[in-house]
Amino acid sequence: MDIVERFINYTKINTTTDRAKGAAGIMPSSPGQMELAKFLVSEMEAMGLSDITLRDTAIVTATLPSNMDKKVPTVSFFGHLDTSAEQKADTKAHIVSYQSGDICLNAEQNIVMKRSEFPELAQYEGQDIIVTDGTSLLGADDKAAIAAAMDAVQFFLDNPEIPHGDVKIAFVPDEEQGLRGAKAFDVESFGADFGYTLDCCGIGEFVHENWNAGNADVTFIGQSAHPMSAKGKLKNSLLMAHKFIAMLPPGEAPEYTDGREGYFWVKELSGNSAKTVLKMDIRDFGKDTYRQRMDFLQKLADGCEAIWGEGSIQIDLSDRYENVMNSLEGDAGFPIDIAKEAYERNGIEMKSIPMRGGYDGAVLSQKGLPCPNLFTGAHNFHSIYEYLPVDSLRAASKVVQEIVKITAERG
Ligand SMILES: [Zn+2]
Repeated sequence: MDIVERFINYTKINTTTDRAKGAAGIMPSSPGQMELAKFLVSEMEAMGLSDITLRDTAIVTATLPSNMDKKVPTVSFFGHLDTSAEQKADTKAHIVSYQSGDICLNAEQNIVMKRSEFPELAQYEGQDIIVTDGTSLLGADDKAAIAAAMDAVQFFLDNPEIPHGDVKIAFVPDEEQGLRGAKAFDVESFGADFGYTLDCCGIGEFVHENWNAGNADVTFIGQSAHPMSAKGKLKNSLLMAHKFIAMLPPGEAPEYTDGREGYFWVKELSGNSAKTVLKMDIRDFGKDTYRQRMDFLQKLADGCEAIWGEGSIQIDLSDRYENVMNSLEGDAGFPIDIAKEAYERNGIEMKSIPMRGGYDGAVLSQKGLPCPNLFTGAHNFHSIYEYLPVDSLRAASKVVQEIVKITAERG
């Protein structure tokens, strides 16, 4: 089956993540994800893959067994089944032959993808591009990854003379809400030595650095009082929270930072004069500087408590995920070298991007399976303007194939 047909088949199953069900601890959070997982199992069975497993969580795994007589490292590839909840409608994908200018996605509703808004379209002139009808996501994030991994495995089944070690593939649910599928993934029993997620954008992109990420929930406890007798009694927790926020380092917020600059993000503030809860995201690329940020908040809270009185402030600091680079330092960096060579052999210029976010690979790396992030070829994730150039999708599969070959060659 051609990779384009494969991809479009996957987009026909609506796998929008359901935030309410996810928050209630249900996984997969939507039935479509299990439907896609079962569909993939049927494809894997038809292909003749080994160790096919489907869990209640909709996590699917399979193995392409080695055809070599010596043991080489087991490489693995990951994609996520769900699509983001920004758009929930069913996807109606179609292919346009892109020449120049704007792309009309939907004449009836006058939905147009404007070249002026998406200037990177220029590099795809003369290519076929898969788009939506402007009423949904395309879901190339991350079904392009699934298509590329399945296509690459099919390539080795079709060309059994090409040597390869054990190759494992895995598709996980609910990435779009806190990387839940990867968090539930059992790295131990999977048995791969290293891996790659395919979950970044345009052709050539590569991620081997992302945030060290944490959260802070700060609760301010005040003392309410009737206004006629409030003097000397009222302790307004709302104003305590404002004071706390005012003491954060100026300019170290998402709207003032980029590249590798970290931040404190005041994300949510709710309460009344008796009790106020502040929720913050803490992000930093450096392991040490991330720790310093967390320590700073703890000390700030301790200082406030000393002034405002015992029990007036509670801080709960938690780690969310780590920078994947933490597990790719020094000799452990070989998955980066292999990817570099795979891009080169395909004539693709590698663009390394420090990812100001998290991805499944960060969670998997933390669990002991180092996983940099490869491109899928798609653009405009989480938007009705999401599109996937066909040549880029084919290139994603070629990179996976090349990684498998290089792993076998290097032994
Ligand atoms: Zn994704």
